[in-house]
Amino acid sequence: MKMIFTGTTNIEHHCSQRRLDHQQHRLNRRGRLSDSQGFQCNVCNEFHPELPLAMGPQAPAEYFQIPSEEIEERVALSPDLCVIDQEKFFVCGNLEVPIQGSDKVFSWDLWVSLPRQDFAHILDSWEDENRQNEPPLAGALANTLPTYPETQNLKAFIHSRSVGLKPLIVLAPTDHPLSREQREGTTMQQVQSIAEQVLHPANDE
Ligand SMILES: [Zn+2]
Repeated sequence: MKMIFTGTTNIEHHCSQRRLDHQQHRLNRRGRLSDSQGFQCNVCNEFHPELPLAMGPQAPAEYFQIPSEEIEERVALSPDLCVIDQEKFFVCGNLEVPIQGSDKVFSWDLWVSLPRQDFAHILDSWEDENRQNEPPLAGALANTLPTYPETQNLKAFIHSRSVGLKPLIVLAPTDHPLSREQREGTTMQQVQSIAEQVLHPANDE
């Protein structure tokens, strides 16, 4: 892997090099959050005992466009950070959507692209105990999600949280359904629709 940054911090400090399988589903269940009441699936007609409440792709969408033999040369990737071609910079965060009529939230693990200097700042403040007090950084969503109109390039703000937590992603207030759901909440039915598409990825292309 090439050196991405020189100076006090570089991404290699945070990365164990790994390669994602391009044949894997592009969206994975993340974390252990679920609704244990389960649901009757509209795709396979079976009962699934858990409804996942946290999901997300393991890399920015652009990653999956890169031929697998070029990944090692062109990409640095950790669970939190990604750099492509030493000129495109991404951070992974949680985009939380409250679920109406419930005290639960649905949490997307998503990637946000941001300018080089802001990415460098995130690296520099990685261990900073006060980083959650910093003003949010502006970026653009870097993933496409099932059940929604195109979500790539939606304007998003990255709010750092305390050390050890992924940042929160807050979408700019627009009429896009995902932005509206983040403000007003989503429904259990919508959460189930997402789960059905992710559990049965043949319907996800
Ligand atoms: Zn099913």
